[in-house]
Amino acid sequence: MSEGGLDGPPQPVERLSVDGVETYLRCPRRYEFAHVHDLESAGENGGADRVDLLRRAICGAFQTGKTTDDALLEASRTTLSEQWADHDERFHSRTQRRHERTVLEATLRAYVEEVGVDHAGGLERCVGGNVTMADVVGPGLTLSRTVSPTAAEESANPGSDGDPHPIEIEAEVDYVFRDGSSLVAARFVPTLAPLGLLRYRSRWEGDVAGQFVDHFDRESDVYDPAAVAALLETAVVLDGLRRLRDRLDLGGKTCRYVQIPLADRSRTSVNWVRESVETSLEIADLTDVYVDQHTYGLTHEHRNETVDGRLAAIVERIGAGEFDPTDRWDHVRRTACPDCGYAVCCQDHIASEVQFDG
Ligand code: SF4
Repeated sequence: MSEGGLDGPPQPVERLSVDGVETYLRCPRRYEFAHVHDLESAGENGGADRVDLLRRAICGAFQTGKTTDDALLEASRTTLSEQWADHDERFHSRTQRRHERTVLEATLRAYVEEVGVDHAGGLERCVGGNVTMADVVGPGLTLSRTVSPTAAEESANPGSDGDPHPIEIEAEVDYVFRDGSSLVAARFVPTLAPLGLLRYRSRWEGDVAGQFVDHFDRESDVYDPAAVAALLETAVVLDGLRRLRDRLDLGGKTCRYVQIPLADRSRTSVNWVRESVETSLEIADLTDVYVDQHTYGLTHEHRNETVDGRLAAIVERIGAGEFDPTDRWDHVRRTACPDCGYAVCCQDHIASEVQFDG
């Protein structure tokens, strides 16, 4: 039993998701509620959001094998239209619903024009022989990395035999394509805002490395779980992509990881008179900001020992059932508790509020 959480013996962990790792970084107790006890949090709608509509439309267009902009746009619009008819999101008015549909169409158009055709060509270069479209196009294409227990942590994730067990970490991407000498994994996200500093830097050395290290320093004021989680996710995706490349013989000397935002309203302009919408995409390649040149110089692979080591430590803590959030309590209380759907049942939070009131 973990102090402050729910009763019950810790269960061995066989696999976890990078989203779970991000939750753990925000608040270990929140991870325990969501992923150990499977409690649904207040405020979760569980429905498909608009990014998922676009994700399915684009992946569906890729599955057709077509590579021209007209064909991709037509196929993706058709899927979007079919999904939109069943989309039951609440809108204030018909006008708003029509407007949101126009924004989605504009996003599809921008995606296809800016990168979709190139990526479809890169997909085509992956497929053939034993490799089908389903091997490289999602949604929900899972890449994974195995984290083995270290000898030093005998309590970490004990299996039924009492020995520490490895944990498989899974990351979902939307498709994989060839780009020059690289094999690239792409994931659609709502916006790039959670990347913070990573969005504006192109190298690991310097303030990105400093911020990553400082996040784990209890004496530091730096607390940036979203950006740290993106770097950990990159480590998982790149390792999983190398495994996929080798298993399917996809080629590609180096592996890369990009995120493509599909709900970034800051790049959208609306002409209300003509009822038209224009938008553009900013794509983030997380590989450059992730890879440390020292490791790359030694291995010629896109790796980062600092991130790898921290990922292993976090996974071990999860496996060992360490969910006490109090070692970074000030940050958790200020940044995670205010929008947490478990606040009403969380003893850590309730005890803190009582203390504050008293
Ligand atoms: S209320 Fe705060 S301490 Fe409790 S689970 Fe949520 S974020 Fe964590």
